[in-house]
Amino acid sequence: MASADTDTDTETIEEQVGTWVDENWDPDLTLGEWWQRLADSGYAHPSLPAEAGGRGYSQSEAMRVMRVLADRRVVGPPPGLGAMLAAPTIAEHGSPEQIERYVPQILNGRQAWCQLFSEPNAGSDLAGLQTRAVRDGDEWRITGQKVWTSQGHYADMGMLLARTDADLPKHQGISYFALPMDQPGVEVRPLKEMTGRTFFSEVFMEDAVAAGEAMIGGPGDGWRVGNTTLAHERSSIGAGSAGFILAAPGTKADNFDRRVGDIVAAASRRRVGGHAPGVGMKLYERWTELAHQLGRTDDPVLRQEIIELYTLLRVNRLNLQRARDPRQRTGGEANMAKLFDAELHRRFRDVSLRIVQADGMLAGASMSGDPQIAELALHASAPSIYGGSDEIQRNILGERTLGLPKEPGPSRDTPFAELPRNG
Ligand SMILES: Cc1cc2nc3c(=O)[nH]c(=O)nc-3n(C[C@H](O)[C@H](O)[C@H](O)COP(=O)(O)OP(=O)(O)OC[C@H]3O[C@@H](n4cnc5c(N)ncnc54)[C@H](O)[C@@H]3O)c2cc1C
Repeated sequence: MASADTDTDTETIEEQVGTWVDENWDPDLTLGEWWQRLADSGYAHPSLPAEAGGRGYSQSEAMRVMRVLADRRVVGPPPGLGAMLAAPTIAEHGSPEQIERYVPQILNGRQAWCQLFSEPNAGSDLAGLQTRAVRDGDEWRITGQKVWTSQGHYADMGMLLARTDADLPKHQGISYFALPMDQPGVEVRPLKEMTGRTFFSEVFMEDAVAAGEAMIGGPGDGWRVGNTTLAHERSSIGAGSAGFILAAPGTKADNFDRRVGDIVAAASRRRVGGHAPGVGMKLYERWTELAHQLGRTDDPVLRQEIIELYTLLRVNRLNLQRARDPRQRTGGEANMAKLFDAELHRRFRDVSLRIVQADGMLAGASMSGDPQIAELALHASAPSIYGGSDEIQRNILGERTLGLPKEPGPSRDTPFAELPRNG
């Protein structure tokens, strides 16, 4: 996509953003003030169109902006599913009023969002979801259960898929809503992972209310709108992160009055550790260095695994480059990036455990001095599930990119109410 910002012809993005940071960064600002400046400048989410608060940049241009913010050691724009999924989806499918109502609150970090898609009986078969939305005067009444809701206990708003017409075939009777999470009809129950943290929740809805104008797209457009969200999820997961300093958005995290200089200082003091590290070249360099330090580089199997890892990282980078170039894109790049990400997590886990050997069983205080090895080992199975499992990515590539026959199953024209169901 061509950049909408013609200034880039005369001045590089790096120079523009650098100048902007010089003029706007002040460690004495509160986080709320800093995020508002970023949002007003269009740099909070530069790949959004200008009318949705962005700059119309391509993905690679937007990534260059994020790298400057990371290199300059300023606090990055509000992260999370609002920026990653809700903002681009609403920018594409929402009315001008909906864009105005929801997107600015995401870009300035005032509202955090979660994704209310998966259900106990509808994960891979997402179109089989059973949560219902029934029209009640000017409102919609929502009843059902969601699960695996990342950051659900921190969210102010949810991107909700619900069935509005069970007499239509399953893909056609679904609609997409912006659901306020703080209301009597919504109960969020946090779940604890094997990493010891709470990342996701179950969400129970009983007559929860969504306003009539909270439907994104029209009735029955949910599958199409939801696929936009999923496409952003898959390409973002595979693309990795710019590595900037983060602070959690939303009213529940309530970080708005913190001084940004203190957030940067705290990030610099923090030991490496805590969350699973990003699986990219930096981690590769860190762990090959560790292999040298621990004298493991004579192990021929380890050497082979390390070079395979390096090859995979390079091939992934080429896939991402192709994904960003409309002239080369074939359509399956986001699914491939998602598959690469899952495979890289597994390989990084295996290589690092081979480097530290039995020491990898020690979480936190390992002798190798890198607590992220145990962290990654516990986290590595998640990426092959979230955002659609590896098998589902391969099915999509087979059917949509390679044109192979679809999986056998009930006709896509059968009304949802007539489909066979478990229990
Ligand atoms: C860490 C994490 C965070 C998540 N966050 C969110 C979130 O914020 N919001 C949200 O809505 N969801 C979220 N999810 C849910 C995720 O999208 C689902 O777990 C995923 O889609 C798989 O669904 P499922 O768990 O119901 O497994 P199932 O669909 O029951 O699948 C079970 C197994 O069967 C395989 N399988 C199923 N169907 C097929 C098929 N047709 N062909 C071949 N194999 C098949 C799958 O690959 C899998 O191995 C998250 C998941 C994880 C792990």
